[in-house]
Amino acid sequence: MGDKRLIYLDNNATTPTDPRVVDAMLPFFHNVPGNAASRNHPFGWAAEEAVDYARDQIAKLLDADSREIIFTSGATESDNLALKGVFEMYQRKGNHIITLKTEHKAVLDSCAKIEKMGGSVTYLDVDDKGLVNLIELEKAITDKTILISIMWANNETGVIQPMKEIGEICAKHGVLFMSDATQAVGKIKTHPKELGIHLMAFTAHKMYGPKGVGALYVNRKNPRVKVTAQLDGGGHERGMRSGTLNVPGIVGFGAAAEIARNEMDADAERLSKLRDKLENALHGAMEEVYTNGCKDHRMPHVCNVSFKHVEGEGLMMTFNQDIGVSSGSACTSASLEPSYVLIAYGLGDDLAHSSIRFSLGRFTTEQDIDDTIEMVTKGVNHMRNLSPIWEMYKEGVDLDAVVWSEH
Ligand SMILES: *Cc1c(COP(=O)(O)O)cnc(C)c1O
Repeated sequence: MGDKRLIYLDNNATTPTDPRVVDAMLPFFHNVPGNAASRNHPFGWAAEEAVDYARDQIAKLLDADSREIIFTSGATESDNLALKGVFEMYQRKGNHIITLKTEHKAVLDSCAKIEKMGGSVTYLDVDDKGLVNLIELEKAITDKTILISIMWANNETGVIQPMKEIGEICAKHGVLFMSDATQAVGKIKTHPKELGIHLMAFTAHKMYGPKGVGALYVNRKNPRVKVTAQLDGGGHERGMRSGTLNVPGIVGFGAAAEIARNEMDADAERLSKLRDKLENALHGAMEEVYTNGCKDHRMPHVCNVSFKHVEGEGLMMTFNQDIGVSSGSACTSASLEPSYVLIAYGLGDDLAHSSIRFSLGRFTTEQDIDDTIEMVTKGVNHMRNLSPIWEMYKEGVDLDAVVWSEH
């Protein structure tokens, strides 16, 4: 990407593949060409052995049995398989699923499809810190409820849900507990059994592995959970997911899991210091800066910050030649929509539109953060100096009381 030093702070969108992961993968493109399902020659055996090894590496990261790891193409597929697979498998027991309004689209859109297939879905609100209300969660359970699906950590804000307490509620009512843990696995401890989680979706490319390979953890004992396959074919992955395994991708996923297990504590400690430095500097340098989401229950490498009276997409353009981040607006075909996650936190459209997500990663340096502080501060000041709204605010005009004319 040219000679210019670019700063990558969009690790929640995807992480760079760790060079050690790339090294582990390379032999499996050419030197080990086998199909892991070819059980009758050495090429197949070598591929199968590599897949088994990677499955163990991933199981160790989760403190799980390797037979509980089902490989998929990524977390989107894992979410689809968990939700639709449970809905189909357990329909005699009930048709009701509970989830949150702040879930990833892979969960929300799967739920919407399930509603079309005759399911019933409750979408719970979160509080202004982004956390589920446990009393409302328990009240939402009916005798038709088969599954509660709540993400471990939010992709936009890093807010971590109270997984242990949710697990206890699920156990008390005999409801399956599924979690989209894509943003948490490999970054913080994620041991599903300890917390009563029965299904857990995650993906390699959010934890320094390659894109296009993911997994679904499926609890094997007490209870033995089953999902109906969504892809039919050769009956791979214990009949839950057919398709030739992506051997190089899986090898990389395994290597990434092992590195994460060894290094996540050190990474988390280093990144939380850098994240705090960034966040504190932005708050210190300017007025009307807000952090979105619960600061006490948050991933160590993420901050989501709103700069009031500054339009986030415009702000990003002041530094996006140098820094890669995400804004709290999503481009839909017709318009710029404010993030539905931040709206669910109770932010107004203006604050949601003025938000930027900074997500640090293993390869973020202190220099990256120092430069980011400087460029973002400059950008915000520049935008505000051009803004008539900011001028009115500085003159003490009560902007909430102004009646804007409609066009
Ligand atoms: C990235 C992400 C996904 C989708 O993962 P893919 O592997 O890209 O399909 C799902 N859920 C969350 C929370 C994510 O952050």
